Amino acid sequence: MRSTIKLGKISGIEIGLHYSWFIIAALIVFSLGEHFHHVNPHWSMWQVWITALITAVLFFVTLLLHELAHSLVAQRRGLRVRAITLFALGGVSQTQDDPSDAKTEFRVAIAGPITSLIIGFCCLAISMGLGWHMSAEPQTVVTAVLVWLGYINVGLALFNMIPGFPLDGGRVLRSIIWGIGKNADRSTRIAARIGQIVALLFILDGIWQFFHGGGFSGLWIAFIGWFLMDAAKASYAEVGVTEELRGTSVSDIMSRDCIVVNRGMSLQDFVDMYLLPTGQRCYLVEEQGRLVGLITPPDVAKIPRDRWDSTTVGEAMRPVNELHRVNPETPVLDALKLMAGNDINQLPVVSNGNFQGVVSRAQIIRLLHVRSVLQLPTTYRPMVRHHGTQVGKTA
Ligand SMILES: [Zn+2]
Repeated sequence: MRSTIKLGKISGIEIGLHYSWFIIAALIVFSLGEHFHHVNPHWSMWQVWITALITAVLFFVTLLLHELAHSLVAQRRGLRVRAITLFALGGVSQTQDDPSDAKTEFRVAIAGPITSLIIGFCCLAISMGLGWHMSAEPQTVVTAVLVWLGYINVGLALFNMIPGFPLDGGRVLRSIIWGIGKNADRSTRIAARIGQIVALLFILDGIWQFFHGGGFSGLWIAFIGWFLMDAAKASYAEVGVTEELRGTSVSDIMSRDCIVVNRGMSLQDFVDMYLLPTGQRCYLVEEQGRLVGLITPPDVAKIPRDRWDSTTVGEAMRPVNELHRVNPETPVLDALKLMAGNDINQLPVVSNGNFQGVVSRAQIIRLLHVRSVLQLPTTYRPMVRHHGTQVGKTA
């Protein structure tokens, strides 16, 4: 996710704030301000808005703690966590590895809701200690903040335990089915199906409420159901992709006939002689027979057109030492994950320091498309393997 503000690192995990979060923060501050003003008319305007602001910031802190709980448990179970990003609808932890076993998945998934639940109960307990009664509106600034945070965190924990992807409850359910059945892909399918049923119930309930005087809240429930339905379908489809690509390595699909261009060539010549006539997306840049970088249409687009004559390919390319690389033996799934995680479309394939070819998202999509046209079962694998050899150059 781009357009995020980096807030720093905790335990090596980058913490980012997406701009969309500010929209929600503003909405929270305004609705809280209204709420505090309504239930505590004796508060001054200052008191109302400062309290609302502090509550919104603390809400952000509790969301971060929820995500940190997922991430720290993941780290302790040996998974690499890259970043946590908070955005309008909550937070996401970007892990580099998928949980390798059901127990890890279960612990990572449940850590978040448990943290929210503990925070929620602690806030409510402290408020009671300070004299708040459950039946009454909190009277002081401190209890008003704590009670709101208490309820919202308990609500967050419960909402996240709805058994549908991508909510934590979906992962918890998947890990339990995985633990019983010992089959990761099948458990995702079953969990996704259950998620779809839950989503359908939400939609039906929402519509029923809407037509029986529930109004806006009915629509809201239906909307959540629709969101869950979409997510469940996506994770069901993702298993198919995972199954189809499993066992395929980069050397099976990479292109070996990349066009090589010289570092000193001007961008104008590169565009006119290579980019437009061939329509390829990825070109290698060499200098005296050595691979020095990679250049793609977006790299060219970054340079204003009136400077194409005076800029060389070498100045616009991405140097080879800044590029992520894969081996011919790298599983295609890992390459895909690497590309998705770093928002890139192709990777150079290098073996023993020698450049072998390029693997791109487009190639993977083409492979999946061909498989779907042929209607091959997800377990179908080609009989003939051609690891390390080239067509027409077979030893
Ligand atoms: Zn969570």
